[in-house]
Amino acid sequence: MFMGFALSNVFYKVIIMNIVGIDLGTTNSLISYFKDGKSQIIKNVHNERLTPSVVSVLENGEIIIGQAAKERLYTHPHLTAAAFKRFMGTKKKYTLGKYTFTPVELSSLVLKSLKADAEVALGECIEEAVISVPAYFNEQQRRATKQAGELAGLRVERLISEPTAVALAYGLHENNGDCQFLVFDLGGGTFDVSVVDLFDNILEVKAVAGDNFLGGEDFDQAITDYFIQNQQLQNYLDAKGQSIIKEKAEAVKCKLSSCKTAEMNVVLGDMLYTTTLTRTILKEIFEPIFLRLRQPIMRALHDAKLTTTDLSHVILAGGSSRMPSIRTYVTRMFERLPMDSIDPDEAIVLGAGVAAALKERNQDLSERRMTDVCPYTLGTDIVEDNQFGSLQTNIYQPIIERNTVIPCSRVVRLYNAVDNQRKMNIKIYQGENRQADQNLKLGELNINIPPKPKWQSSVDIRYTYDVNGLLEVEVTSLDTGQTKRQIIVNSENQLTPEEINACFKRLASLKIHPREKDENRLLLARAGRLYEEFLGEMRTIIDRQTILFEAVLDKQDLFLIEEAAKEFSAFLDEIEGVMY
Ligand code: AMP
Repeated sequence: MFMGFALSNVFYKVIIMNIVGIDLGTTNSLISYFKDGKSQIIKNVHNERLTPSVVSVLENGEIIIGQAAKERLYTHPHLTAAAFKRFMGTKKKYTLGKYTFTPVELSSLVLKSLKADAEVALGECIEEAVISVPAYFNEQQRRATKQAGELAGLRVERLISEPTAVALAYGLHENNGDCQFLVFDLGGGTFDVSVVDLFDNILEVKAVAGDNFLGGEDFDQAITDYFIQNQQLQNYLDAKGQSIIKEKAEAVKCKLSSCKTAEMNVVLGDMLYTTTLTRTILKEIFEPIFLRLRQPIMRALHDAKLTTTDLSHVILAGGSSRMPSIRTYVTRMFERLPMDSIDPDEAIVLGAGVAAALKERNQDLSERRMTDVCPYTLGTDIVEDNQFGSLQTNIYQPIIERNTVIPCSRVVRLYNAVDNQRKMNIKIYQGENRQADQNLKLGELNINIPPKPKWQSSVDIRYTYDVNGLLEVEVTSLDTGQTKRQIIVNSENQLTPEEINACFKRLASLKIHPREKDENRLLLARAGRLYEEFLGEMRTIIDRQTILFEAVLDKQDLFLIEEAAKEFSAFLDEIEGVMY
């Protein structure tokens, strides 16, 4: 007789492994999946499509992520981190209360919250994601993004560059004719330009250029600086004051996308400061930022060997493309109206969803292929004889030129520079500077060579760059046949498997604020912010309402809490309406 279970008593939940698309944005993040032949956005626990990429630590040590954390950016700037995508791949540390986080860890918390929301919404387990990254992200930044995915419990085999995702969202791959497009993506913290070519049903990014430090935040900062100067506040501001003004600056900037004039009211301590802003003033203070937009556009066109008139379309993406001045700028520059039918906040994630489907070999898209480019030149350093008979060192030798379509593999042959040289040291760099050491060093390899007269011993250096932006370097001595191979790992920022494991455990031990209580936490955070924004009697009113709401929360009666939350939320909506 066999031991067995009474199968009829066991309930099986069919767990479908889903692959999702994720836009891990500087300001906001989104998640999507491909269903019924199209990419669809999955709403978060608050029924919102956007989850702010913000993490905050509560006074009790719990972690909150998203909108509730964003509210605390204003009231608790020292316990809250935002825009950490800008520092992906660096050693920057964020100290929030008793915790210290890296940008990778903070990103992983955002990804984890997106994953949890999607699992609740779909009722399915999500194991894998295609995550978008700015086209300009270098090796370290791409690797850091993958690591953030891993720490969030996601398998990330494929990254997609953001402009490529936008092109997919617009369905360029479904177009019948061959054509060339430019994607102009101005987000919160990054600016990406890419020239995309559709030929024979293959979508190919011809060239990318951009600026990792140009985006909506620069416009916010310009307004902040203007306000501070206008109100003579230069010498009276601490970090909190700055962050209060910047938050208002962003709100006024967005308002001026639909109105011609807007008041900027800021309460600092017991004082109310007011300035009127107009589109004309914005035009003036944004001028230096507009100048910075031109160069990446020209470089991408130049690299793709195109002019503005060769393009079939220009597509706008990124939240900052909602600014009328950006549309005017693009229309003037390209002498045509840009494509902007998809909400600029959503184009990337919708495209990432399409890429996820491509990866899953979903039948709807099985015939399509896409390619990508290497965003930076990859090379090594060499020495050369100068005309005075001595050796000039530190000369950059490109091996894979920027904007080469990937995957790709290139080889260069180098010779011994001095007699009886016994070893060759190959340094691997990424960048465009002619002085090798001014570029980003990714790693190095040593290979022994037999002692021979100068120029008589040779090695082949092969760089292979894969679709995920990972670089394999292979060095072969043609004299001995010996080969050394390395996947480039930057020891400074790359975690070992043990470190990843430790990091995983540390993050798992963090107490994430219960998601079902998030809604109420958000209301309290919002009330806290509004309290700081208002003065006098309004403050007393907000205070009273907050105390009442907290008292109901203490009762732990779900029905009462739900009713009180509705009322408190309506009250906050009403007073927020007064403010803006
Ligand atoms: P993204 O990184 O693509 O999510 O873009 C976020 C940026 O878009 C932020 O800097 C926002 O302030 C900006 N943004 C969103 N909506 C508007 C708007 N209506 N007008 C101007 N900027 C906006």
